[in-house]
Amino acid sequence: MVFIISKVKNAYKEIEDILGSDFVSNKDFMKAAYSRNVDPAFPDRWADIIVRPETSEEVSDIVKIANKYKIRIIPRGGGADLVGGSVTEEGILLDLTRMNQIDEINVDDYYCIVGCGITWGAMLSELQKKGVTTGILGPGSGYSATIGGGLSNATVGFSSTKYGLVPDICLGVEVVLPNPEGTIIRTGAASNQYATPFCRYGVSPDFTGLFMGDVGTMGIKTKAFLRLFPDPPFKARRYYMLSKEDYDSVFKLGHKLRKEVGDGLNDLMVWPSILFQLLSAQVVNKPSTRPKITGPVFSVTLDATDQRILDVYLEKTNEIMLKDEVTRLFEWQEIDLDMAHSNDWKFTLKEEFHFFQKYISTAPPKTSMTTCHKVAISKLNESVQKGVQFNRDF
Ligand SMILES: Cc1cc2nc3c(=O)[nH]c(=O)nc-3n(C[C@H](O)[C@H](O)[C@H](O)COP(=O)(O)OP(=O)(O)OC[C@H]3O[C@@H](n4cnc5c(N)ncnc54)[C@H](O)[C@@H]3O)c2cc1C
Repeated sequence: MVFIISKVKNAYKEIEDILGSDFVSNKDFMKAAYSRNVDPAFPDRWADIIVRPETSEEVSDIVKIANKYKIRIIPRGGGADLVGGSVTEEGILLDLTRMNQIDEINVDDYYCIVGCGITWGAMLSELQKKGVTTGILGPGSGYSATIGGGLSNATVGFSSTKYGLVPDICLGVEVVLPNPEGTIIRTGAASNQYATPFCRYGVSPDFTGLFMGDVGTMGIKTKAFLRLFPDPPFKARRYYMLSKEDYDSVFKLGHKLRKEVGDGLNDLMVWPSILFQLLSAQVVNKPSTRPKITGPVFSVTLDATDQRILDVYLEKTNEIMLKDEVTRLFEWQEIDLDMAHSNDWKFTLKEEFHFFQKYISTAPPKTSMTTCHKVAISKLNESVQKGVQFNRDF
């Protein structure tokens, strides 16, 4: 026990010598503040030391110290993990949010280089000014989650229907390895100092995949090289409610949209009907009559480079969704008068963030115990049935 205390003390002192006293703490209020993620079902866990490095070299030095004293070290971005990934009982908790710089936004070759502690909100705000986007707009937890967390959790997010998972837009990373030397490496084209890091493959064997979805176990990501896309300026969103609780139809309609609307389909989200039942009971500004909530609601976001193309996508989407009267058009205003009508809908980063945040917890200030699963859409119905059965059994 004495040995453990003295090794933590020694490690603390050595880290303080490198970072200065402002960015390292062993105070209880700091440990408490960093003791949780967004996972109320998990117990809090208190680290021994909280550290906030700013550079890759500082991270490397801290890794060397952790190795020297054999103290565990856990990276943390926005702390929005659902399953306790970015907290630790004892050891060093590395808050990476000071590594939030944008090194480059290259609109000629469509890539950007950012610190892994940058939030989606901060990064997208800058990209939007230049008419480019990473495509994926970050996870449902919101814009205060970080790029490092997105890469490490292989996060799915807004616009993933079109652009894939966060690792799919990753061209390479800079990582501090957990070895005793705290070696700093780069992957993708960025591994070659003479290459422009606009591509992942072809310059050398690529090791990026080793660090994607690794929940931080393979190393600490300090920089990310991300793919950019021109941001299609014309966007529209429509909501459709299914006439019954039928996830087989959800699959069939989703598949059809994917096949027939193709590139215009930016995002397809399906919200379970229970969410709407709970919300319609809870919203502040209610309509006088309650709508009949019959089934899950589709949120379909379309985008295009031209209004005329967008109009064709809208027509096609309505054709698919309203044929056979399996669904009807739905408006959030039916249950919440504060919500904008979707025909007037204009895309803004702020609105996207608040929209999701407003509805993510149906019983504020509590959040349900949730986790993310990746399920093939053809297996959706089966998975929902299993989920329902699980809830009944436990
Ligand atoms: C309300 C809510 C909605 C959510 N919606 C979604 C969703 O739509 N899709 C989805 O996939 N997830 C979702 N999540 C889960 C989570 O928010 C995301 O996975 C998010 O990307 C985590 O980012 P973060 O910066 O908060 O990561 P953190 O919680 O800080 O860390 C996540 C994991 O990555 C590791 N890590 C963080 N940064 C680094 C780094 N730089 N180097 C190495 N490892 C690192 C941590 O150790 C931890 O294991 C949601 C969570 C909540 C609470």
